[in-house]
Amino acid sequence: MQIFNTIKGISGFLENYRCVNPDKKVAFVPTMGFLHEGHLSLFRKAREVGDLVVVSIFVNPAQFNNKEDYEKYPVNTENDISLAENEGVDVLFHPGVQEIYGDQSTNLIQLRYPDMMSRLCGKTRPGHFEGVLLIVHNLFVWIKPQYAVFGCKDYQQLLLIQKMNKDLHLEVEIIPIPIIREKDGLAMSSRNARLSPENRKDAIVISRSLAAIRDAWEKNPRILVKEMKGIYEKYLGSVQVDYAGIYDPRTLEDLPDDAIVTQGLAAVAVYCGDVRLIDNMFMGGNCGG
Ligand code: AMP
Repeated sequence: MQIFNTIKGISGFLENYRCVNPDKKVAFVPTMGFLHEGHLSLFRKAREVGDLVVVSIFVNPAQFNNKEDYEKYPVNTENDISLAENEGVDVLFHPGVQEIYGDQSTNLIQLRYPDMMSRLCGKTRPGHFEGVLLIVHNLFVWIKPQYAVFGCKDYQQLLLIQKMNKDLHLEVEIIPIPIIREKDGLAMSSRNARLSPENRKDAIVISRSLAAIRDAWEKNPRILVKEMKGIYEKYLGSVQVDYAGIYDPRTLEDLPDDAIVTQGLAAVAVYCGDVRLIDNMFMGGNCGG
């Protein structure tokens, strides 16, 4: 596996690769590291569709609205390198903050979808999605992949990236991957490493609430949104809820309480201790379309 720390290094290498191999496809997976099985499932998909698999590891300060969350974000680069190597990743891009942003830490260029960014995670994490779109846009420009693989766990992020990719004609094929879970249902996340044993136990209610909502919908597809919201209340009493709702999966608008769901996204963000976790499940569709 080749490792690059500079934009010039990786883009020069890829330019040469494309020149020598004009028919070969580059598949790209952006991550913030502290890799787990969720990330590895993305790498495997990239390996399947691409000739050259490029992974980036960069904890992007621009997408953290909370300084402490950024500083406490788990890092284990040595382990990440060996996991990526074992999965057959060809190229790793691992730049430092200075390389990406220079001395500019505020007043960055912004890509915004005011409507969609004001919902769900955007409501309580101002600036988060602007930071995500900026780094993903730039990585697409430097790496110029044919494919990019993203997880459905960050569904709002996936939708925004799909919109940006289409609207800016970046011509990357975006491949969504289902959520990989622990045995007890908790969605895998690098942040899970920060949970205390007690908070880890509490965190199980997240996926249980979503599964209960989906089960209720499968049993009775004429169930009303407000009845689904009642299920959240039953499950999420032991954690601090940021949001828990039933949304239109295309726009992320709240479905009205008296709606009958033909296609819906149950999505949640909660705090277990000081760790913020997100998860979602689909009804009448799936994350890929
Ligand atoms: P992160 O390192 O958390 O920024 O995530 C990098 C990519 O991995 C994103 O596309 C995430 O949606 C995806 N991802 C993270 N956790 C999971 C999971 N449990 N299952 C599937 N994909 C995931």
